[in-house]
Amino acid sequence: MSTPLTFQTLSGIADQLASGALTSVQLTQAVIDQTAAVESRVNALLSHDAADALAHAQASDERRAAGKPLGPLDGIPIALKDVIAVRDQPLTAGSKMLEKFVSPYDATVTIKLKEAGVVLWGRANCDEFAMGSSTENSAFKTTANPYDLARVPGGSSGGSAAALAAGEAIATLGSDTGGSIRQPAAFCNVVGLKPTYGLISRYGLAAYASSLDQIGPFTRTVEDAAIVLGAIAGHDHRDSTSFKTPIPDYRAALQEKKGPWKLGIPKEYFGEGLDPEVGAAIEKAIEFYRQAGCEIKEVSLPHTEYCLSTYYIIATAEASSNLARYDGVRYTHRSPDAKNIEDVYFKSRSEGFGDEVKRRIILGTYVLSSGYYDAYYLRAQKVRTLIRQDFLKAYEEVDAILTPTTPTPAFKIGETTDPLSMYLQDIYTVGVNLAGLPGISVPAGFTDEGLPIGMQLIGQPYQESDLLAIAHTYDSAHDWSGRLPEL
Ligand code: GLN
Repeated sequence: MSTPLTFQTLSGIADQLASGALTSVQLTQAVIDQTAAVESRVNALLSHDAADALAHAQASDERRAAGKPLGPLDGIPIALKDVIAVRDQPLTAGSKMLEKFVSPYDATVTIKLKEAGVVLWGRANCDEFAMGSSTENSAFKTTANPYDLARVPGGSSGGSAAALAAGEAIATLGSDTGGSIRQPAAFCNVVGLKPTYGLISRYGLAAYASSLDQIGPFTRTVEDAAIVLGAIAGHDHRDSTSFKTPIPDYRAALQEKKGPWKLGIPKEYFGEGLDPEVGAAIEKAIEFYRQAGCEIKEVSLPHTEYCLSTYYIIATAEASSNLARYDGVRYTHRSPDAKNIEDVYFKSRSEGFGDEVKRRIILGTYVLSSGYYDAYYLRAQKVRTLIRQDFLKAYEEVDAILTPTTPTPAFKIGETTDPLSMYLQDIYTVGVNLAGLPGISVPAGFTDEGLPIGMQLIGQPYQESDLLAIAHTYDSAHDWSGRLPEL
C-alpha cells in the first residue's frame, strides 16, 4: 500500500511538485483535509488558516507554472511552534498572557521560509513559554501522542512533533532549550534537530532562556532535516548571538560524507532510570553502526550528574528576566480588575501566567537574588563550563556521541504530576544545550506496546554536516518512520 500523501517525505513530495505530478494546492488541500480528520483527537494546532494557506499554495503553483527555478521547499506546508513570530498571525506561546497577541513582525526563520516559498500552515501547541516536557502546561489544550492518544507527545514542542506524526504538516519547526525538539521527536517517531547555538537566528522567537534557546526542524527523515536546516540557518545581525559561519549544502553532505565514523558512548547515559526496552533499541543502533564499520568507543562525560541542576538554575534565571516584559502594560493580558499600577503588574501576571511559569519565575528570581547569586547562578555558570569541556574532551577521540534521547517512551497524560519527575525527562538532552552543541533525535524502533523510541546523536559545534551524515547512515537503512500511527 502506498504511503498517504501527507505522510510522505518532504524530499519525495518536492520531487512530485517539481515533476508536475502534484500541485501545491493539491498537497495543501490534503494537509487541510487530514487536519480536519484527526485534529479533534490529536489537538496539535492552536490556530490555522486554510484560506491563507491555499492562497500561498496557489502562488507557488503559479511561480512554478511561470518556469521560475524553485527550491525544494516551495509549495510545502510547514507548521510553526507557537513561539515563532509570523506577521499578522497570533502568537500565544501557549500562554493566556499572549492569548490576544497578534505579531506585528516576522521572525528571521519565518522570513527565510517565506523566501523559500513555504506554505506557512498552522501554529503548533506547546507548553507555556516552552516550559515543560508534555504540552500539559499549555494554557489552551493538551496535545495527544498520535501513537497512543492517552499519552503525551512530549514537550515543549509537542504540537510540532504530533502534527507531523499525524500527517497534519510535511515538516514543522520547534524550539529547544533543554530538549524540547529532541524529546517530542523521540516520543512521536519523527526526526528532531537542535542545531548548534548560534546557527539559527533567535530573532522573533519568544524567549525562554536566551543562552540555551535554538529553533530547529521536525521532519520524517534526516535528509528532510538537512533540507529545512539549509533554508533557516545563517548569520543574522538582529540576533547578537548569531554566529558567522559558512552554511554548507547539508543535503549534498549526506552523500559526500560516508565515514567510517568514530562514535562515543557515554557510560553516564546508560545507568539507572533507563527503560530496558529503550536501552535495548539503542544497543541495536550501536550494533548497526559497528556493522557499518564505525569505531565504537566508551567515553566519559563526568559532570553529567550536574546537568539537570545546572540547567534548572540557568534556565529559570534567564526566564525570570525574559518574562519580566509581560507586565500587562503593553501587549499582554491586562487584568480587568486592576485599579492602580501595582495591580496592573500583580494581577495581570497572576492571571496571565500558569503555575509552572510562576514556579520558574520564583526559582529564577531566587537564584539571581543578591544573597544567593554566588551560591547558585554563578556556580551553575562555572559548572556549565565544565560540562562543555567534558564534551570537547570526548571529541578529541570521537566524531559524535550516541545516547538514548529519553529515559522512557511517552508517558500517560496526567501521570507525571510532580515537577521533579517531569524535569527528569530532560536528563539526556539538557547537556547538549548547556554545551551549545547540535543534537538530533532519530527514530530507532518501538516498544512492544508500539511506542516510539528515539536515538540521540550529539555533534561538534557547527559540524551539522557531519552530524546529519552520521544520522543519515542509520536513518536511510531503517524505515521506522514508515510505521504510521493508527488514527
Ligand atoms: N523540558 C525542559 C524544560 O521544561 C526543556 C524545555 C525546552 O527545551 N524548551 O525546561
